[in-house]
Formats: sequence, structure tokens, C-alpha cells
Amino acid sequence: MKASTVPTQELAERPEGYQGPDLSPRGLRLIPIPLAAGTWALVANIPPKDNNGLVVGDRAALVIDAGIVPDISAQIQHLAAKQTDRPLRYLVNTTYHGDHSFGNASFPAEVTVVSSKINRDNMTDLAYEKARRAGNMYGEVALLDAVTDWRRPEVVFETAAEIDLGGRVVQLLYFGPGNGPGDTIVYLPDAQVAWTGNYLNHAGVAPMLLQGGPIPYLDSLRRMRAALPALRTIVPGHGPVGDGRAAIDWLIGYLEQLLHDVREARRAGRTVQQTLETCPSPFAAGLDPRLVSYQLPQDTARHRLLELMGILHRLNVLATYRAWSAPRARLRDLRSARRLVAGCVRPAPAGAYHVGCPAATVWRPWCWWPAPRPWSLLLDALEEADGIGLERASMDSLSLACAVICFNALQRSPW
Ligand SMILES: [Zn+2]
Repeated sequence: MKASTVPTQELAERPEGYQGPDLSPRGLRLIPIPLAAGTWALVANIPPKDNNGLVVGDRAALVIDAGIVPDISAQIQHLAAKQTDRPLRYLVNTTYHGDHSFGNASFPAEVTVVSSKINRDNMTDLAYEKARRAGNMYGEVALLDAVTDWRRPEVVFETAAEIDLGGRVVQLLYFGPGNGPGDTIVYLPDAQVAWTGNYLNHAGVAPMLLQGGPIPYLDSLRRMRAALPALRTIVPGHGPVGDGRAAIDWLIGYLEQLLHDVREARRAGRTVQQTLETCPSPFAAGLDPRLVSYQLPQDTARHRLLELMGILHRLNVLATYRAWSAPRARLRDLRSARRLVAGCVRPAPAGAYHVGCPAATVWRPWCWWPAPRPWSLLLDALEEADGIGLERASMDSLSLACAVICFNALQRSPW
């Protein structure tokens, strides 16, 4: 799935009783944790408030994420100055979300802000983004009054970039949509450490499917797993530092299960409310044992984290349900597109069919389909074939609809 087909704004709907993670800067203190020479995680004393990072080379230093308000940006710069006398030259935003980028304007002009192009393109409507983040302020919304200017990255990249800090290179990587459409990974090959923003948490910590649903996210995670075989440690934007490979595997498993469960609910004809009530939660049995040792010595902290996981899971169920529904509605609208169906299904060897887009300049099969079957199964096959999925917009949906309608209408003689 192309990033351009991810919804342009974050999902605004929330399940009943939803209370998002507490990202208020009140009481937030960043604790430097050394991970390798010249490499620190700056970890929030109160999870899941925002974490940051610091990487130092021979010539320059780089920090990861800017803080939600100027006070936190000042704290990050102070910590950087305490750890190194190399000049701070770069600031990377892992996402456009305000808790990672509102602080950009508080860094001096000689610090270059870098992020993916998609993140920068999302940093246009400060009032809207402040309104979204207000839901995470836990009574401290007024603290966001200090944010008056949303400084956008001066340097952007499409899929990969490198920053040479002198004697060490920092890689910036974009694997596709995840929590947001432009999630940027900061990878240090010499330390096998990645800062993953909102994209990837410690194994057992729920993601938030705010923009695009699980299908594009799964594709992106598989790309990351293939691209970084040596990855050892991740510093997520929120929550504990952890094992990167375990985190990717856990999240892929979580999203696959979520997709399966919501799909089953849809097939059974359940409403969104019924789906929220019946969809199993992987957190019902408690926290992942790998989390318990981390900085959560007190029962109350563990209890709060577990409660938050349950809440975020409900959000993910809702988001998956919505991501599924929208294209189905479009499909119904596109029934009149029957005249376009010719060419969607073509004969393949052994009595099978190829299904593809009739509008493409060069006809290319999307998938191989063994025999006439109900179109709902064809949809699943298309999803699984190459992640085309139900979330593709506009022309892709039209083509998908054509293929489906064609297949449905002409099952017995598709050409
Ligand atoms: Zn965040």
C-alpha cells in the first residue's frame, strides 16, 4: 500500500470510555541511559510520556524528537550539552505528532530539523494538531499555549538518508505507514540501535492504529524486519527500551490477530459496538512477562500500563473496523462501474484465472485465483496476494471493485 492512500488525517473517533496515554510534560524528567559510546536513550521518568535520544560523533551531535513544549526542548538541549561538547547540529522528528515536534521551534537555527517528507507534509495545521494532542494532556491543556509556532523540517527524505556526524553515520529510514503515514526510524548501524518513535514499542506494548489500519502497517514492519537483520535494541517514542527483533515479531503477530478477529466479526455481521465487546484482547491475561522487569517495580504502575493496553486495544479494534468499512461502502457505490469490468479476469493455466486492473496501461495480474468462488473470498485473496487490501483508495478501489464485480457477475464465463 502506498503512503498516499493512507487517510490524510488521524482518526478522530474514539471508543467509549477512551482515555489516551498521558503525554503531559508535567513532571516529565528525561533520564540518560547509555547504550553505546556516544549513544544515549533519554527515557521519560513516567512512561508513557515521550522518550528522546542523543547520538554524538567526532564533529557533531544529533537528538531524536523535540519534546511537546519548549520546556522539554530546553531539557533535551541541556542534557545534550552535559553529555558532550560537540555542537548539536541535527534534530530528527520520528513523526509529525506534536509530542515529537512541537518543540522544534525551540532549537536554535543552526540545528537542522530532519524528517521524512511525509511527516513534513503533515505539519501544516497547528491548531488541528494541538486539538488532537489536547486529548493526551490530562488537565494540562493550557501548557500547549506555549506552542505558537510549528517549525517544519528543513531537510526531508523519501525512503532513506544518512547523516555523517564524524566517524559515525546515522541512518534515517522510512519503511511505510505505521502509527502515522511518515514514521521515521533513526538507526545507528555501529550500535545496532534504532529509535522508533510511535512506530514500534517494546514487545507486549500495544500500538495505536491512528492512521491507516493494520494492513499497510504489516507491510512496513515486514520491510523493516528484512532491512535490519542486525537490529538489537529499540528506543521507542514511548515506554521501555527493548529488543528490536522481538518487538517487530510481537507487533506483526498482534496486527495479524487483530485483522483476523475484526474480519471474522465483520463476516458475522457485527456492528462496531458488538465488535468492540466481543473482540478478544491479548491483554486480558495480563502484561507480557518481558515487560514486568522494566522500570515498573510498583504494582500501581504495572496496573496502569495494563489498563492502558486494554484501552489502546479497543482503539485498534475500532480503527481496524473503520479501515475495513470505508472501502466496502465505496464498493457498493461503484456497482455502476460494471462497464469497466472487461479484462479484470483472464484465463490462466490449469483452469484458473488471473485477476488484475483493466485500467492499467500494462495489464499485470494481481493474483491467481483457482476457481470460481464467492467474491468475499476473492477480496481476502487480493489482500493476502500483495497487500492491496481493502484500504486502497480511489483508482485502486475502483479497479478492485471492477475485478470483484466482474468475477461475481461472470463467474461462469469470465471473458
Ligand atoms: Zn508519540
